[in-house]
Amino acid sequence: MNRKSLKQGGVFFLSVCLFSASNFGQVQKLPKEKILALEVVERNSKSIALLGDNIFYFAELGMQEFETSRLMTEILEAAGFKVERGISGMPPAFMATYGSGTPVIGFHTEFDSTPGNSQVPAVVEHQPLTEGAPGHAEGHNVNAAVMIGAAFAVKKAMDEFDLKGTLKVFGAPAEEQLISRPYFARDGYFDDVDILFHPHIDSDFGTAYGVRQYALISAEFDFKGESAHGAVAPWKGRDALDAVELMDIGFDKYREHLEPTHRSHRVITSGGVQPNVIPNEATIWWFFRESTAQKVSRLFEQAKVIAEGAALMTGTSFSVNVISAVWPTRGSRTVAEVLQSNIELVGMPEWNDEEQQLARALQTELGVEAQGLNQQVKPLKLAVQSTSSNDSGDLTWIVPTVKVGFPSNIPGIAAHHWAAAVAPATSIAHKGAVAGAKALAASAMDFLLSASLVEQAKKTHREELSGVDYRPLLPVGQKPPVDLNKELMERYRMQMREHYLEEKPEFR
Ligand SMILES: [Zn+2]
Repeated sequence: MNRKSLKQGGVFFLSVCLFSASNFGQVQKLPKEKILALEVVERNSKSIALLGDNIFYFAELGMQEFETSRLMTEILEAAGFKVERGISGMPPAFMATYGSGTPVIGFHTEFDSTPGNSQVPAVVEHQPLTEGAPGHAEGHNVNAAVMIGAAFAVKKAMDEFDLKGTLKVFGAPAEEQLISRPYFARDGYFDDVDILFHPHIDSDFGTAYGVRQYALISAEFDFKGESAHGAVAPWKGRDALDAVELMDIGFDKYREHLEPTHRSHRVITSGGVQPNVIPNEATIWWFFRESTAQKVSRLFEQAKVIAEGAALMTGTSFSVNVISAVWPTRGSRTVAEVLQSNIELVGMPEWNDEEQQLARALQTELGVEAQGLNQQVKPLKLAVQSTSSNDSGDLTWIVPTVKVGFPSNIPGIAAHHWAAAVAPATSIAHKGAVAGAKALAASAMDFLLSASLVEQAKKTHREELSGVDYRPLLPVGQKPPVDLNKELMERYRMQMREHYLEEKPEFR
């Protein structure tokens, strides 16, 4: 596979029309403001591609996305957005604002990489750029490019036509450990937002409404005991590792009596240093998951009771550190319908033979059906709730929200595997990103141009929640883990710098 030409294919030979040919007839009917936004995305195709590629090579882990955040906020600032960095106490987080008054349209997305997934783009075998380093094996680099591309285009249309309203753009660190957005929600950043969009990479171009994912509470249980010589005076010790083991066993007994919707998993992150020293400290880190926020809260409360039992049996004490706590994600029907109409307007990118060949080669290598790239947009559908979670869940209960799935990856390839990092810096990702940014910008324009559509979305959102009262699951006063992934990132960053791109995007 010719990597160089695939990479250049996206950057230098982009499609020249705004829409797929079959949708050309609809163009005449569009408002001029929306046409301009679409044109601005199109003329910035190369910059969108370059932004995604720059971030691909930064490949920064959650909470360490400093280069990524800097590049994104510099672009927004240069475009005239007012940027607030470090929101909710997280250095790579940001909120960029443009305009004034209502409606308030929000975009938010993540941009973190995954550990150990470094990969050379467009190569159909595991070939790390930097051995052992993180890589973009979920393609969150492209999410960032889509969000910035769309935000820039909407801002241009607001300027050109003197539109009333506010655009807020949020950078959300550390999605892979589900950190930032419940903190943003708790701190009130979405209280005045009317409509919200979340671009996320996919192999499909589509969206869904209804409850999409699970609630989750991520919490460490730290047990403290007393160390002693394991051979000479073990009776003087109180074993924190015993408490961790007993909590684990206790929770396993409890599993039998849980509803089938439940999902929980844990790792022991600290369990002593050497066998002849009774461990005075031990930690077990849990992800508790359930289908609703109420159910996950009950699960967490019972886990604390089990921990108390384990502490009682071992004469130890414990403390709980909630790292994150998220509601299930959901999609709001009215916003989803508006987005779907724009996805259909924009249409699937036209893939060339080389792109299809890369997709089939990778699918063959991975032993999945060699179906190539998707050629049709997905019809709007009611979501099937997945047992996965995303830290944007809380926002979807506060504001009518949808996820914009855009086609920048290869079907059948699971994320967090090197293979999922093969496409996100190729012309496949570039074309999918331009399509995604167009659908996102066009949908934001629809709401900016119609107060009644905003009201309708808010009304259906209220109906969809059917009286569920949103309260943050995150404890009051909880601080975000800002040192997350710090050591791991510092171990590789110098070597990774060698691959950074020199060319930076220039939006115009
Ligand atoms: Zn993701």
